[in-house]
Amino acid sequence: MIFEGLSDKLQSALGKLKSKGKLTEKDVKDAMREVKLALLEADVNFKVVKDFIKKVQERCVGQEVMESLTPAQHVIKIVNEELTSLMGDVQSKIMISSKPPTVIMMVGLQGAGKTTTSGKLGGYFKKQGKRPLLVACDVYRPAAIKQLQVVGEKLDIPVFNMGDKESPVNIAKAALSHAIKNNNDLVIIDTAGRLHIDETLMDELKSVKSEVKPHEILLVVDSMTGQDAVNVSESFNEALGIDGVVLTKLDGDTRGGAALSIRSVTKKPIKFIGMGEKLDDLEPFHPDRMASRILG
Ligand code: GDP
Repeated sequence: MIFEGLSDKLQSALGKLKSKGKLTEKDVKDAMREVKLALLEADVNFKVVKDFIKKVQERCVGQEVMESLTPAQHVIKIVNEELTSLMGDVQSKIMISSKPPTVIMMVGLQGAGKTTTSGKLGGYFKKQGKRPLLVACDVYRPAAIKQLQVVGEKLDIPVFNMGDKESPVNIAKAALSHAIKNNNDLVIIDTAGRLHIDETLMDELKSVKSEVKPHEILLVVDSMTGQDAVNVSESFNEALGIDGVVLTKLDGDTRGGAALSIRSVTKKPIKFIGMGEKLDDLEPFHPDRMASRILG
C-alpha cells in the first residue's frame, strides 16, 4: 500500500464522519484538524497543508454539503478533489516532438535513481513503438557508463557513450547526430549527478541544455527524502528550468510529503513514479488515481 501511515490516518479521520448523520461545523472542523495532522506527519510542506485545509474547510461547511443527505460522502469527495488538484489535476505527459528525435534530458542528484529511470523510460517508450537511444553523459562516476550499458542490454536498447574523456556537451552533441543517422526517434540523456547541488553541476547541465535544446528536462528525485526532494526540485527548477519530475522509490516506506508538495511548491508536474528496482517498475503519474489510492 502507498503512504500507509497517511492513508490510515485520513481514512480514520473521515471514517468518523460517516458514522454521524447530519454534520455540524464542529464535526467538520474536528475532522480537518485530524487531516491536517496526518498531512504534517506525512511531511507535506507546511504552507501547502495550510492552504489545503482552508480550501477544504470552506467548501465543506457550504450549504450544499451540510444539508445533503450524505454529508460525509460529500466531505470525502471534496478531500479527494482537493488532493487531486494539489497534485496537478490531470496526468501530465511527455511532449513528443513532431520533428524527431524527441530529446529528454535526465537530471538529478546522485542516488536519486536517474540512471535506472533513464532505462525505465526507454523501456516504457520502446513498448509504445519508439526507437530510443540512451546516452551516457555521466563521465565522473566511473561505474555510471557501465551501469547504463547493462540497463541498455537488459532492455535491448542501444547506449551511446564516448567513455569518460569527452565533455558531456560533446557527447550529447555527438549522440544527437548518431540518433539522426540511426533513426532513433527518442534520445534520453543520462547526465551526471552530485551528492549536493553545486554551481559546477548546474553550469554543466546548462551547457548541455543550450547545446542540445531538449524537449523535456526531467528531474529525478527520491521520494524517501521528503521535503529535501521538494527543495531539490525548487533549486533545479530555478537554476535550469525543468519540465517535470519523476518521483522514485514510492514502493518503499515513504510518507507522501514529496508527492503531495512538489507540484504546489514548484508548479511543475510529477510525470512518472518509480515503483521498484526492476526496469518495468515505472508508472505514469495520475493525480486522481493517486488521490483515490490514498483515500482507499
Ligand atoms: P543515480 O545515481 O541517480 O543514477 O541512481 P541509480 O539509478 O543508480 O539508482 C540508485 C539506487 O536506487 C539503485 O539501487 C536503484 O535500483 C534504486 N532505485 C531507483 N529507482 C527506484 C525505485 O523506484 N524503487 C526502488 N525501490 N529503488 C529504486
